[in-house]
Amino acid sequence: MGMKVLRESWPEWKDNTGVRPIRIGQVSVGAGPPIIIAGPCAVESFDQTLEIAEAVRDAGGDMLRGGAFKPRMSPYTFQGLGEKGLEILAKVRDRTGLPIVTEVMDTRYVETVAQYADVLQVGSRNMQNPPLLIEVGKAGKPVLLKRGWAATVEEWLHAAEYVAAQEGNLDIMLCERGIRTFARDEYSRNILDLNVVPALHKRTFLPVIVDPSHGTGDADFVPPLGLAGLAAGADGLIIEVIAEGTERGDVKCDAYQGIRPSVLRKLIADCRQHFGQRKTDAAPV
Ligand code: PEP
Ligand code: MN
Repeated sequence: MGMKVLRESWPEWKDNTGVRPIRIGQVSVGAGPPIIIAGPCAVESFDQTLEIAEAVRDAGGDMLRGGAFKPRMSPYTFQGLGEKGLEILAKVRDRTGLPIVTEVMDTRYVETVAQYADVLQVGSRNMQNPPLLIEVGKAGKPVLLKRGWAATVEEWLHAAEYVAAQEGNLDIMLCERGIRTFARDEYSRNILDLNVVPALHKRTFLPVIVDPSHGTGDADFVPPLGLAGLAAGADGLIIEVIAEGTERGDVKCDAYQGIRPSVLRKLIADCRQHFGQRKTDAAPV
């Protein structure tokens, strides 16, 4: 059977290079200028999330990110607030109007996360977890599918196919977040693989999002690599933010890659200048 996520499988997508837009509230991904998703790595408290969300909105961001369930390296570190974190995200969405993107790690929580989230994020560690992809595919929500850090483009497209295969949900964004290579030192947590942006656009009509935060692991590298992602043709960025007054040492998760709101503001202004102004009245999808 032909793959649903491939351009070649559809007469209307075969011979063009366009992206199939995804509508999330007022936001259209893939129709018009790139979108910016930004927010904390983890939801730590209501106040922290609201402060960052307001900064994201004021900087011109389109959607709020934030993990309630965190796939941490060590079981002894902060694992996220769980369902309480989802409630916080929903309250913050009410206050700011920003749609929320949040990770689901476990088949047992797909329904719960889907009740709160506007976009279900599948993390790098779970890209090759078919049971989770199957449940996510049945949840009826747009999906942000991060690339496994050692996954090939082919494996990634097949993971997207698992989501699409359930009920034909094609509202899937593919997110490049850096791969693991020998080059791992203070200059690179991961290698942001921008080759995949045009490669994916060739193979599929799914929008491509670049994550320069996990891709670099260093707040100073986020603006240049974010802009590079858009120059490569990405349909949007997902970026981690730390509140202006917060000490990095007090941040519970990914403390060194979050950019400050002032930096985000400048980055979004640069994105808009170089890659187009977002229309407020996004074309209907
Ligand atoms: C995240 O976005 O917070 C995250 C855990 O990312 P990744 O799955 O890419 O490591
Ligand atoms: Mn993170």
